[in-house]
Amino acid sequence: MINLLDFNKTELVRFCGEMGEKPYRARQLLRWVHQSGKTEFMEMSDLAKGFRHKLMECAVVQLPEIVSDHTAGDGTRKWLLSTGAGNAVEMVFIPEPSRGTLCVSSQVGCALACSFCSTGRQGFNRNLSVAEIIGQLWWANRLLEAGSHDPFPLDTTRVQTDKPETRRPVTNVVMMGMGEPLANFENLVTALDLMLSDDAYGLSRRRVTVSTSGLVPALDRLRERCPVALAVSLHAPNDALRDQLVPINKKYPIRDLLAACERYLPAAPRDFITFEYVMLKGVNDSVALARELVQLVRNVPCKLNLIPFNAFSGSGYERSDAEAIGNFRDVLMQAGIVTTVRKTRGDDIAAACGQLAGQVRDKTRRTNRREAGQPSVAR
Ligand code: SAH
Ligand code: SF4
Repeated sequence: MINLLDFNKTELVRFCGEMGEKPYRARQLLRWVHQSGKTEFMEMSDLAKGFRHKLMECAVVQLPEIVSDHTAGDGTRKWLLSTGAGNAVEMVFIPEPSRGTLCVSSQVGCALACSFCSTGRQGFNRNLSVAEIIGQLWWANRLLEAGSHDPFPLDTTRVQTDKPETRRPVTNVVMMGMGEPLANFENLVTALDLMLSDDAYGLSRRRVTVSTSGLVPALDRLRERCPVALAVSLHAPNDALRDQLVPINKKYPIRDLLAACERYLPAAPRDFITFEYVMLKGVNDSVALARELVQLVRNVPCKLNLIPFNAFSGSGYERSDAEAIGNFRDVLMQAGIVTTVRKTRGDDIAAACGQLAGQVRDKTRRTNRREAGQPSVAR
């Protein structure tokens, strides 16, 4: 059976063509599935009956199953979605007065093994399909619309200013859930197409952000194929330190990564790159390192987003204290770099950055190696 959730518009046009149908059928299907949230072909009333029957024979609209649903004290909501065979991923909705951001997963686990990341510690099982990626957005809109609470209780401006397509609960998507999105490139790009398509979710490119730990060749391909807003997980101002925190740095060192960022900028929907920098006590949070960071990024139009480390059991790291974070931020700000400190959301339900663990049947033997006391980082 073909899962129609795996197709972007181009692929649906081709599929309809193969069934002897006109291209506008693809548009109708997209709208039924993604905008009306229908999964039963019989309910798609403006499709010819014959076409609906043909669809029932060869296609389905199949979503990952919701396994659990938790709401944190601050309104952040986290769902666990089953992806079969004992695997599950998490997605998180962060409501704010003027927007609703969905943090979407791209893989079951992550093979890149950053030392401070809970997902990285889980090992890796597989890439998510397009249906499993876009299915997160599909579900979040449905579940939030169905919820008894208004996701935007404080908002009075949004309805007037946004185009109708963005009046749904999810106005922004960040690919910052489990996994490295650029390591699942083709499925990512197809899912991004759907997020941007006016016949599906109609989000603007600046409301969709891909966060990457720095897969340089894939970053160049993203620029060519689907340049959305970009966040780059930097975390250290020199290779010696970044090698320890973000092991992929050994393959794509900082200099190559920054060059790729500069190449990305002309195509990007915003005129700056966001660098993410997790604040780890006594590891990467000194004033001297802040000064080194200033020197490093001084020629790249960027913003810095400092993320206070979110603890998980056995991480071996601690969050920098507020004073250290403040001092670090001041050095950057004094050098003219716009710097924000990310507010920790949803940590009482383990929904904060880097705490997403899902259920990962590790195929990389990384978890075994660690249990046997061997280094966990693949070299
Ligand atoms: N794989 C991508 C996107 C997912 S992680 C990436 O690495 O960019 C989203 C962000 O959360 C990244 O900047 C990541 O480095 C950060 N992060 C990971 N673990 C964290 C933790 N324990 N505390 C705070 N931030 C963390
Ligand atoms: Fe993977 Fe990102 Fe976690 Fe690194 S920080 S292990 S790239 S999910």
